[in-house]
Amino acid sequence: MTATMPIDRSQWDERVRPADDFYRHVNGRWLAEHPVPPEYGAYGAFHEVNEGNQDRLHRLLHAAADDPGAEGSVRHKVGDYFMAGTDEALIAAAGITPLRELLDAIDAVRSAEDARALAPRLERDGIGAYYDIGIAPDFADPSAYLVYVGQGGLGLPDRDYYLKDDERSTQLREAYVAHVATQLANLGVPEADARAAAEAIAAFERRLAEASLTKEQQRDPQLTLNRHTLDELDGLMPRWRLATLVREIGGTQPAVSVDAPDFFRVLDEAISDTPIDVLRHYLRWHVVRAYASSLPPAFEDAAFAFYGALLGGQQEPKPRWKRVLDLASQDIGELVSQLYVDEAFPPAAKDRCEHLVEHLLAAMGTAIRTNPWMTDETRGEALRKLAGFSFKIGYPDRWRDYAALTPEHDSFAANRIRAARFEHDRQFGRLEEPVDTTEWLLPPHIVNAYYHPLLNEIVFPAGILQPPFFWADADDAINYGGIGSVIGHEITHGFDDQGSQFDATGALRNWWTEEDRTEFTRRADVLVEQFNASPVTDDVMVNGRLTLGENIADLGGLAIAYNALQEALHGDRHPIDGMTPDQRFFAAYATIWRTNYTDAYARLLANVDPHAPSHYRANIPMSNFEPFAAAFDVPEGSPMARPAGERARIW
Ligand SMILES: [Zn+2]
Repeated sequence: MTATMPIDRSQWDERVRPADDFYRHVNGRWLAEHPVPPEYGAYGAFHEVNEGNQDRLHRLLHAAADDPGAEGSVRHKVGDYFMAGTDEALIAAAGITPLRELLDAIDAVRSAEDARALAPRLERDGIGAYYDIGIAPDFADPSAYLVYVGQGGLGLPDRDYYLKDDERSTQLREAYVAHVATQLANLGVPEADARAAAEAIAAFERRLAEASLTKEQQRDPQLTLNRHTLDELDGLMPRWRLATLVREIGGTQPAVSVDAPDFFRVLDEAISDTPIDVLRHYLRWHVVRAYASSLPPAFEDAAFAFYGALLGGQQEPKPRWKRVLDLASQDIGELVSQLYVDEAFPPAAKDRCEHLVEHLLAAMGTAIRTNPWMTDETRGEALRKLAGFSFKIGYPDRWRDYAALTPEHDSFAANRIRAARFEHDRQFGRLEEPVDTTEWLLPPHIVNAYYHPLLNEIVFPAGILQPPFFWADADDAINYGGIGSVIGHEITHGFDDQGSQFDATGALRNWWTEEDRTEFTRRADVLVEQFNASPVTDDVMVNGRLTLGENIADLGGLAIAYNALQEALHGDRHPIDGMTPDQRFFAAYATIWRTNYTDAYARLLANVDPHAPSHYRANIPMSNFEPFAAAFDVPEGSPMARPAGERARIW
């Protein structure tokens, strides 16, 4: 039996030359032998690791359900959530009863004023109608919390879906209207009315879409972080009196941040001149949209057909236990994680990852100190920012307190509403407290990592600290190429086009000289052009602006991981398995990006995802990086080695 190896040449396609397409060279066989499984829209290394985590959790969840232990214990809560979620007979028997009170309250809405009175309740129950309201560190003083009020209220993934007029977009909109009508009919609205109501809902949402920021604009903190006093907030929505609503749901502070002021002006108008029966249907639709995944098959199947299959490219739904696990990760993530890390994350892994992070931070320091284009003034600020970085690895020292949330084995939808209320109360309940810097924004069993600009911290959950990202006993080249480049990526986010606008404390503050900012932008624009020239499907290109932050992070992450490896090697360049450390580093890097996509899902991502397709995330950074060309004797001007004058280099 062959165990999985850090470098597994049986997955390569040596017919493809490294100089032409290194991603295919290293992953060709894997890509050919791993078509996207029917339950996925895309499938790659991240999904493979997630599959393993899910299998482990599946077993642990069953064990918790079978032997829940004491009332109120982690096992008990997780077990009840899982049992209620997987009990199909219970879900079918409950029908829409768990939502009855909410739907009755919507039926009773007779005026815009009634709708307004209902809004705080919808907010607390997790119905994202009209807009999104949340809590995060204050961008001017990140030691305190601030309420953030954001555009929202759409049922399609982005504003552009409402506004584009090509054939595919028009068809998608028609399918959306049909889907909304189906869900309204499932709620008991007569079919003839449901169709007209769905059209009116789509028209209402279109008005919101027209006033919404684009995905690219949403990435611009100068545009989206706008402090408004509560009076000013009421000025944006004088009829709706948004400020009063913010107070009613627990906002206690004199100011909030508003991402798109014009959106709220338009929303105020749209709500007041939309017939009240349309508004009621709009609210019903958003209740169903929020909870379809925990309702009987008629609702869930319809939601899958539109969101999962048509938009997401899935041929079939995931098995129920995986769907419940995904929702549990949102609703009770740190309870699930507690079962996971006990078994899956040994202390030795934490130690080795800590060392890696420290080496990567040191390499970023060198990159800042030695880069040829920065003035000393900006360089000093950048080094101060780096010195202010904190990091978290594995799982929290202190778990989130779920005492106020008790899932029960009575109704899946009821548990989901309980979880929404718990989260709402948790967020608003701490508004006056200092920012909790120990909090994790991802449950630790998740296969991902993040940089938080307002906290100036990088976080690596246990879920991703596994092969092919991290190998407890592989040589350094493998781990620096894998998880090392991920760590470098997250560090670089602190210095990408967004992150570089926040300082060491997490405050939004310009610490750049104008000259340095101009040069940074010039260098970043090279990357924008490279990605803009990269096709996603036959008629869609990568959006180089939308993906710029991630692309800067990939490019910088690769460079600093490589430099950190050179330090770690201490000159020991002996080959392993016929490959130099540099070759192993780049092979490990290319391996983590192996991913197949369905056409539909690739299109969805191209519209909404700030990450470019994996193929480019692997190849474009390497094609800009001279040590890659040197490691594989790639002649300058080959697809994998851009001419010196055309290379992008920032960090
Ligand atoms: Zn990223």
